[in-house]
Amino acid sequence: MIQAVRGVHDILPSAAQKWARVEATARRVFEAYGYEEIRLPVFERTELFARGIGEATDIVQKEMYTFQDRAGESLTLRPEATASLLRAYIEHGLHVHPKPVRLYTMGPMFRYERPQAGRYRQFHQLNVEALGDDHPALDAEVIALLVDFFRGLDLATPLDVQINSLGDAKCRPAYRERLIEYLRRNSARLCAECRDRTERNPLRVLDCKNPECRPVLDAAPALELCPECATHFASVREYLKQMGVEATPTHRLVRGLDYYVRTTFELTATELGAQNAVAGGGRYDGLIELLGGPPDPGIGFAIGIERVVQLLPERGDDAREDRRPLAFLIPLGDEALRHLLPVARAVRSKAVRVELGYGERKLRSELERANKLGVAWAVIVGETELSRGEAVLRDMKSGTQQTVSLGALTDKLIALGAAR
Ligand code: ATP
Ligand code: MG
Repeated sequence: MIQAVRGVHDILPSAAQKWARVEATARRVFEAYGYEEIRLPVFERTELFARGIGEATDIVQKEMYTFQDRAGESLTLRPEATASLLRAYIEHGLHVHPKPVRLYTMGPMFRYERPQAGRYRQFHQLNVEALGDDHPALDAEVIALLVDFFRGLDLATPLDVQINSLGDAKCRPAYRERLIEYLRRNSARLCAECRDRTERNPLRVLDCKNPECRPVLDAAPALELCPECATHFASVREYLKQMGVEATPTHRLVRGLDYYVRTTFELTATELGAQNAVAGGGRYDGLIELLGGPPDPGIGFAIGIERVVQLLPERGDDAREDRRPLAFLIPLGDEALRHLLPVARAVRSKAVRVELGYGERKLRSELERANKLGVAWAVIVGETELSRGEAVLRDMKSGTQQTVSLGALTDKLIALGAAR
């Protein structure tokens, strides 16, 4: 038997209903905030991600699915959506639209990570990006939108919103140097990964989950924002407060992608254990220009759908029972089948779910199947019924039967379907 690739999972019918709910909620909430959908390819030229995500990041260094196509071009399955979305924004001149240009997208992402609970090699994200405006009210609005999406899902568990400012090209470089110096000085008390990251991606070291590194990291110097960044961050927090959105400032919140400046944020759910981040995002002013576009600022986030689905409470309409067919049509013989084929088609055209036998089995085994399907009604048409121009309608619960003329059967089933 050929099995699915490690870290890649199927979404079975028993779970697909929840996925549909998450996607429908996303569309509803995002569109109310003025976001329009954009659909993007799942692979791009490798250099887009190398430039857009950053050569020094874990993603680019060791997590990308990169391959050569038959013409020898290096392509990569997208590990995230922002770079692709910005590529499309630039390529199609979307920046001529009134700003901010608000876009959302959803779909699979690919990262060669160590598979574990809540961490896959193919996973799915919802992405929101607002491009062309750097007002702090937009940062607050984007965070509020993220919170409202989760509200729309009626989760039973509380979620924490953490925010931070990573500064910008003015205040971060000096901090970076100070941090490197501090980390080098304390390298003996850091894990190998942290020591390695100190040189490659020092801010990311602060994010290490290893408990033995915590004392050094907790005592690390904090970023001192330049006046502009400090004002921006204060405004974001003020606007959030005005909207009643609670967000905890967290110095240690650094994100895995190089391009973030100023506002970053993350949503976590304690219930998820080690892989507790359900969404994260931030501002990336300068990235569009870096990718060859206009000097437009931008801000956005990504939500991990697998982790959201894990948090979703069961709901009545998730259960397969509620999607059971209304009726099982049982023709006994080919002549009866030919009468019931158009009936089934007409009933289904009104979005009423019915199933149809093919006339080759005995009535008893077909009734057993009706039971297994859990239908409310069985419709039986044998030779006797055909000769009378009738069908037998059997109530599967009570076992009582009535006859309906074949001419009225379609309308009868549609009416029963509507009454359900
Ligand atoms: P983490 O810290 O969990 O590795 P990240 O910072 O790499 O997350 P982002 O790149 O910001 O995550 O992606 C946003 C969201 O996508 C995460 O908050 C998470 O919910 C989800 N996500 C990221 N990587 C995976 C994965 N390998 N499997 C499942 N979901 C993922
Ligand atoms: Mg990650």
